[in-house]
Amino acid sequence: MPTHAPTRLHVVQYSGGIGSWAAAQRVASQHGTSNLVLLFADVRTEDPDLYRWLDDTTAQLDVPLTRVADGRTPWELFGDIRYLGNSHIAPCTHTLKIIPCRRWLEVNADPATTTLYVGLDASPRDRNRAPAIAAGWAPWTVEFPLLDPPHLTKDEQLDWARQLGLRVPRLYELGFAHNNCGGTCVRAGKKHWAHVLRALPDHYAAAELAEQRLRAVLGDVTILTEQRARQRHRLTLTELRDRVTAGGKP
Ligand code: SF4
Repeated sequence: MPTHAPTRLHVVQYSGGIGSWAAAQRVASQHGTSNLVLLFADVRTEDPDLYRWLDDTTAQLDVPLTRVADGRTPWELFGDIRYLGNSHIAPCTHTLKIIPCRRWLEVNADPATTTLYVGLDASPRDRNRAPAIAAGWAPWTVEFPLLDPPHLTKDEQLDWARQLGLRVPRLYELGFAHNNCGGTCVRAGKKHWAHVLRALPDHYAAAELAEQRLRAVLGDVTILTEQRARQRHRLTLTELRDRVTAGGKP
């Protein structure tokens, strides 16, 4: 009797970013869409337009979204663990994205017949991250479709989506490099947060309020720090708002 190779499952880590979309396009054109999974970990602080983008692009690929979630926002997580994430340590990615995705994989994706795809781009920074990311997802096999030529910059990926008639996520149009957590990533620095204040004031206000609430419980903690007179100082989002609103530099 002839033996058939088991069907391979192709799981794209589908974040709502343009890189994961471009990776999914390449996987779909190489392997088709019948065994394609678009796996999205929802941290519930995304920009509303990210969900519109997910709807549009899953319709374009004709593949339903597979959504997983811890259920908490990063702010709720920080309260639970009594630690405010910042540019040095951000436990939210692991707890709210990686763990829920891993749980889904453990139930639904045999490592022997599954390939995971991550939309890192071909920039030196992303390339350097690839080995650690691949090791972190063991025992699943990880591939990085955008590391293969032709290499596309982020702008070229965005143009690719536009050429297919898609409206790209508004955060890119507003000058953000990433479409995650509605621009309010705790890993970001002062200049980024100043841009959030100008471009997405409602998102800034929500993050500022979340920081204030956590400070009321945890004490003098902040997302941001800065160097002054060779010393590291905490900088609240309210202080940064006052500084920027007064016309000062971030
Ligand atoms: S984008 Fe930033 S704030 Fe959001 S989960 Fe990732 S590290 Fe945390």
